[in-house]
Amino acid sequence: MTSPISITRIRDRHAQIAGIGALAGGGVSRLALSDEDKQARDVLQQWMKELNLDISQDDLGNMYGLLPGRDPSLDPIVLGSHLDSVPNGGTFDGVLGVLAGLEVIQSIKESGKMPERPLLLVNFTNEEGARFPVPMISSGVLAETYSTQKMMTLTDENHITVQNELERLVLQGDETNRLQQAHAFLELHIEQGPVLEDERRQIGLVKGIQGLSWHEFTIWGDADHAGPSPMASRADAGIMAMKAMLALHEWVSSLEDQTTITFGRIKTEPFTINVIPGKTVFSADIRHPDKAVLDQRIDEMLKMVEQTMEQESGNWEETSLSYMPPVTFHEPFLQELESICREQNFSYYSMFSGAGHDAMHISKFIPTVMLFVPSIGGKSHHPAELSRWEDIGQAVQLMHEWTTGHCY
Ligand SMILES: [Zn+2]
Repeated sequence: MTSPISITRIRDRHAQIAGIGALAGGGVSRLALSDEDKQARDVLQQWMKELNLDISQDDLGNMYGLLPGRDPSLDPIVLGSHLDSVPNGGTFDGVLGVLAGLEVIQSIKESGKMPERPLLLVNFTNEEGARFPVPMISSGVLAETYSTQKMMTLTDENHITVQNELERLVLQGDETNRLQQAHAFLELHIEQGPVLEDERRQIGLVKGIQGLSWHEFTIWGDADHAGPSPMASRADAGIMAMKAMLALHEWVSSLEDQTTITFGRIKTEPFTINVIPGKTVFSADIRHPDKAVLDQRIDEMLKMVEQTMEQESGNWEETSLSYMPPVTFHEPFLQELESICREQNFSYYSMFSGAGHDAMHISKFIPTVMLFVPSIGGKSHHPAELSRWEDIGQAVQLMHEWTTGHCY
């Protein structure tokens, strides 16, 4: 069977979008609701027009292109991702999912056989959260995780709000156009990690998204002069914090399960070269794909810090900053995708996503699944972000076959 998918078309379109906001040394900066984002949206809109899709946008600036089905009473199959990027980002993140969705819809349309079920392409606003600092905000509003007000009043570093930019770029449609109930949502995305490469597989079947919990620890010691204070009598908040972090790091490393812990921010006070730190604040990002295990790990983490601080006779305090429970995707879809992979001899790997995606929020109200393609060297959010066209071709073919299985 020859593939109805045109990898050349995806490649050409990818090159065209990659040229918008392109950087001299490779990569792109196409921040959400910037002029570059608008240009990319215009190009996508043109492609959707050429396909005669019913184009609409909602009040959040999300773009939709609908291929009607023979039976308009059936809920649509939704395909898509996002066109915005981080500053100095790669050209595959998000874009690939939009282009894959467009390609599947185009090939079904060009087959001449009208689907029973409508197909809907979507481009979500501000997935990255790089300019307006809440990632996946528009899908979050659709899922009622965030309020519309929260999204509209998000401000960039120049004090420009989402609302300002939606108006300036004329991207605001009607609230009634928002994505609602649907039969399915499938988001294809680059993996952004090294697992598929390490496992030498071409397609990732994404079972869900890891849960994460963010904490801030404050440790108090006694600030004192770095010279006259004898080593034995010090209460160095910096050293106490490091002992706590090291204990946590070694504990999580010894678990050999999927738990990860990261201390991305460490700040001593008074942050002076010749003063023993009297206070140290550090962050902890702890993740696991299973909610029960994640919750247990959080308790264990707190106990371990308590123990360390008892030994050190220091005072401490913990603040919980954010908690996102793990998300599991729609199991029947995963089984269908797996059986297509088996039939077609596609090499696949079942895995969890370590990063958040719009699919995470959408899965709250639409049965959802994700596909990953390998990221070379596991690199992303970087100009060197790259995926192989052979891998992409296979993943889009899988997506096409699965979609046709649902829309006829
Ligand atoms: Zn993305």
